[in-house]
Amino acid sequence: MKRIALVVGHSEKSKGAYNDEMNVHEYYLNEALAKHTLNVMKIEKDLDPFLVYRKNGYSKLPGDINETNPDMIICFHHNASANKTVQGTETLYYHKAERSKEFAKEIQKNLVDVLDFRDRGLKPVDSEDRGGYVLKYTNAPCVLIEPYFISDNDGLIMGAAKQFECASAIAAAVKKVLDS
Ligand SMILES: [Zn+2]
Repeated sequence: MKRIALVVGHSEKSKGAYNDEMNVHEYYLNEALAKHTLNVMKIEKDLDPFLVYRKNGYSKLPGDINETNPDMIICFHHNASANKTVQGTETLYYHKAERSKEFAKEIQKNLVDVLDFRDRGLKPVDSEDRGGYVLKYTNAPCVLIEPYFISDNDGLIMGAAKQFECASAIAAAVKKVLDS
């Protein structure tokens, strides 16, 4: 059984990006997609998925994740931009982590296939970059997904309608990397 940590980005107290026209907080979309992914992965007999919430603050998050002893880690986020016409899919990984890069490549490919938004590609990050702290200081292969921008109203509606397909796409990527 491979332990898959599904890390819900942000928290009830600090909800991340916000679309005020639609009154949608990023945190709830992160949690919804993580839960869909949990359910899809539970069906796979060789996967042991579980949710990780940010309970002790961001600075303790890498340690909290490492304590769960995962084999792979997915951090769930959604993107936002002041320019509300920007839309697309991107996946972040720590720039020196080759296994994480392989994992990021598979997830990115599958999410782009499902969502059909612009492929913004893989984003190699360093520890001081957005998401980089968790990506660097976790022990198992780790990616941070940004399936789509919630600042674009039309894209938000389309993306949120595809949560189940995105969850299946993420699970398929995990299986492919584990089998390789
Ligand atoms: Zn976020």
